[in-house]
Amino acid sequence: MAQSVDDVRRLARTDLAELDARTCVCRACPRLVTWREDVARTKRRAFRDQRYWGRPVPSLGVADPRVLVMGLAPAAHGGNRTGRVFTGDRSGDWIVAALHRAGLANQATSVHAGDGLALLRTRIIAPVRCAPPDNKPTPSERDTCAGWLDAELPLVSGDLRVVLALGAFAWASTLGAARRAGWSVPRPQPRFGHGAEATLAAPHGPVVLLGSYHVSQQNTSTGRLTVRMLDDVVGRAAELSCLP
Ligand code: SF4
Repeated sequence: MAQSVDDVRRLARTDLAELDARTCVCRACPRLVTWREDVARTKRRAFRDQRYWGRPVPSLGVADPRVLVMGLAPAAHGGNRTGRVFTGDRSGDWIVAALHRAGLANQATSVHAGDGLALLRTRIIAPVRCAPPDNKPTPSERDTCAGWLDAELPLVSGDLRVVLALGAFAWASTLGAARRAGWSVPRPQPRFGHGAEATLAAPHGPVVLLGSYHVSQQNTSTGRLTVRMLDDVVGRAAELSCLP
């Protein structure tokens, strides 16, 4: 079990199935371990009869994606409750419905881990796999969890055509992981924006990094991110995923 950043880097050197298993018992970030478990004990009133997952949340989707959706971290009462990323909260409602409209998910809803959701040509990764207070991991927590991301990216990127980064944190995490994986990244570093695009040179070919505002309630309830704006970028990701 990973108890430190060095443990994460050592234990992450494995295959994809074992990576998920090792991720799920990670305890390398003391503040996040305390938070995720406290939330799972105290619960939100609406979910008081449910058993919370309260652990790191693994990636979701196919093992050989053409589209990688990069998020931030599981939500305290979403992924940290249901055990599946973007599941059981408003953010999940938005992104899964958009993936469905673009032909990248078999259904429009993401309610609980056994609801039959299947992603098509797509995988979702959270660069920080434990729910953080206020959705804000510290730089040290980000860097510690990057060990899991760095191990996963080469395992799943052989057919990858596009990374859809939900927010500036996801954008920067993708660029960092790509650089550490030996991909060529443009200089100066491409800047995040909604609809921004940059082409990264991976060993197997070009991968487009595509930016979108995050599907957080803060963005969707204020109109900073609308359904149409999200559909435009997810549709673009779907289009890029079909490139030979
Ligand atoms: S955030 Fe990542 S590295 Fe930190 S405890 Fe959770 S899974 Fe482990």
